[in-house]
Amino acid sequence: MSRPLALCAAAICLLAVSAVSAAPPYKALIVEGQNNHRVWPETSKMMAKYLTETSLFSVDIARTAPRGVDKDFKPDFSKYHVVVSNYNGAAWPEETQKSFVQFVKGGGGFVVVHAANNAFSNWREYNEIIGLGGWGGRSERSGPYVYFDDKGKLVRDTNKGRGGSHGRQHPFSVVVRDSEHPVTKGMPSNWMHANDELYDRLRGPATNMKVLATAYAEPKTGGTGRHEPMIMSLQYGKGRVLHTPMGHGVDSQQCVGFIATLQRGAEWVVTGKVTQKLPKDFPTADEVTKRE
Ligand code: ZN
Repeated sequence: MSRPLALCAAAICLLAVSAVSAAPPYKALIVEGQNNHRVWPETSKMMAKYLTETSLFSVDIARTAPRGVDKDFKPDFSKYHVVVSNYNGAAWPEETQKSFVQFVKGGGGFVVVHAANNAFSNWREYNEIIGLGGWGGRSERSGPYVYFDDKGKLVRDTNKGRGGSHGRQHPFSVVVRDSEHPVTKGMPSNWMHANDELYDRLRGPATNMKVLATAYAEPKTGGTGRHEPMIMSLQYGKGRVLHTPMGHGVDSQQCVGFIATLQRGAEWVVTGKVTQKLPKDFPTADEVTKRE
């Protein structure tokens, strides 16, 4: 009778080991190395920590040379399920651009955060992938402005003008426009985002893009008076993309709303679903919540 007992004990032991040492199922790569936001090494570390905390992701960081085109920047995107960009700098080598487009087109996930949407204004596929961008000479040639009007109607505005601006930093209310999407599902219909730059006047091809949440860029803080996109989902080939222009600095990225958007967005681009519950400390309509 000792034999079945021994087998049973061994089986339990195996199960226990696999539960403790299970590797996270998905691999994430954060790209960084150049950014007009000098806080980038810190914000990359914060995002790596947030992704790791989900237990869904192991995280690597790929860094370019500090300036200019880095001919040796050739991360193997195909080893990853999701790429997160915290990069706003010189062009990537052509080979790297091609392999990145191939990665997303073939079903890889991409998350674009804040000034990463300033990058690569002349790279057509990158702009199709991110939908909207700002600065870098963007104009009506880049595509329409996309925003909601006061009646809640999505506007694609082809008027001439620069792409990308923002007023003074301040905490602002994020309004969920699509409460059925896995990333925004369960979020309060309005929630307060911590102090941040509210990007406005973004322009781009904006094809296969859904605006999941907006924020009103108040003229009194220097904004456009439009309801500007704050969380966007996109499809590019077989790949899913989650774009948030939020996340300028450390205080903006400590916002639990930002954290949950990043964590859920990264899962959604990989699987098309979100299994993470909304955090209990998620901001409310009146109150910013932060993890310091
Ligand atoms: Zn910024």
